[in-house]
Amino acid sequence: MKVIVVGSSHGGYEAVRGMLLENPEAEIQWYERGDFISFLSCGMELYLEGTVKDVNTVAYETVENAEKDGVHVFVQQEIASIDEKNKSVHVNNLADGSERDESYDKLILAIGATPRRLDVPGKDLENLYAMRGRNWAIKLKQKMVDPDLKHVFVIGSGYIGIEAAEAFAKAGKEVTIVDHNPRLLGNYLDSEFTDKLTQEFKENGVNFVGSVNVAEFVGEDGKVKAVKTDQGTFDAELVVETAGVLPNTSLVDGLLDLDERGRIKIDEHQETSVEDIYAVGDATKVPYAPTGELSSIALASNARRQGRTAAANAAGRELKMTAVSGSSALSVFNYHFASTGVKQDTQEKCGVTNAKSVLVEDWAVPPFVSEEAGNAKVYFKITFDPTDGRILGGQIMSTRDVTANINTISFAIQQKATVYDLAYADFFFQPGFDRPWNIMNEAAQEAVRQIN
Ligand code: FAD
Repeated sequence: MKVIVVGSSHGGYEAVRGMLLENPEAEIQWYERGDFISFLSCGMELYLEGTVKDVNTVAYETVENAEKDGVHVFVQQEIASIDEKNKSVHVNNLADGSERDESYDKLILAIGATPRRLDVPGKDLENLYAMRGRNWAIKLKQKMVDPDLKHVFVIGSGYIGIEAAEAFAKAGKEVTIVDHNPRLLGNYLDSEFTDKLTQEFKENGVNFVGSVNVAEFVGEDGKVKAVKTDQGTFDAELVVETAGVLPNTSLVDGLLDLDERGRIKIDEHQETSVEDIYAVGDATKVPYAPTGELSSIALASNARRQGRTAAANAAGRELKMTAVSGSSALSVFNYHFASTGVKQDTQEKCGVTNAKSVLVEDWAVPPFVSEEAGNAKVYFKITFDPTDGRILGGQIMSTRDVTANINTISFAIQQKATVYDLAYADFFFQPGFDRPWNIMNEAAQEAVRQIN
């Protein structure tokens, strides 16, 4: 069997690894149009802040290692078109200009997404950057040590914008971050959490402005100098645009069924509308556990699960894509937070209307342990369906890293567990780590009281 995998990021990497596990005899061809395979944008902040020194190590895989495992890797080679009737792809070799056709038995597309750029006057000026992939990582890193750069303007306060803002603030730059949402991280956390994080940003020199519409990039000598918005003009010698992504699906437009936003439609086996062509990652949607509907959640964790699912099915073993809840975690200066599933403030966006929530504030470990010894306040919010108690979401934040609790909530959502199940669930107790009633027990017990 000959399998072609297109794209070498999270989805493509997992599809290749999955195929090696499922069918070690398969001939695997792996294509990447860029000049580097499997760069992890997830690791970009670690590189920008200097925790990881070498940009080339921010990757799952090297060409040499993949080839040692028998995979044929083609870098700087782009799949330009697909002939689904003859089951072949047309390859453009971007390095030497040559072209050829390659046949396939199974084709797995992990072609991903590209950053959305603002279509406003001044959009062609220099120093308007995106934040995705190795090339942007290198360019951003150079800006961090540019002594002429004083003001950085970040558009979009999702987790990518937050990472950009924090990295540049730590590099000593004056940072403004804006969003058309009124709250930063508004899709990830409710206001009890984002109020604290906005304050945390302020104390660390990052200015957040919400409900902003960018009107124009103002330039001088071809370079950006300022950003005009409906809430004033901001100095900016560098703009980082992190206002979402667009599916990179022009390759399959007219061939595969796409949704209204251009994402590839897939079934529960990751198969597209054309037999033997599978698609995974940010170019697709995922089954959203809280509602059972398909949802667009651009996460590496999702792409990896989809990649494994596509590989299994392409190899002939039936595997359904697991339902996911958009679980993510991040640090903002001293705080660590994580969230999953439905949030109270934005439930309508997830297709939910009647969710209820309980917020609990308590110490991470028994109060006899001082803050100097590592104790810290923890804020945890559980969101549930008041009609049957089903758990729909959870959010947690603390200056102590308690983020892993959210994995329990994600699993509870996936398993359709209720606050009744969670109220007395068995969690360990050791005063150095936790309390006799974990904060999730506490919140679920309060939720049960509110339902009854
Ligand atoms: P992409 O990463 O979009 O990659 C697609 C690849 O396909 C590209 O390399 C492209 O060059 C190649 N390609 C496309 N078309 C062709 C073609 N025709 N021929 C050959 N090659 C082609 N997610 C998390 O879960 N946790 C995190 O902490 C996290 N942090 C992030 C931080 C940043 C700064 C960013 C930008 C994203 C982060 N994400 C995180 C999201 C995660 O990176 C994406 O969800 C993930 O990259 C999606 O992977 P993908 O395989 O769909 O495709």
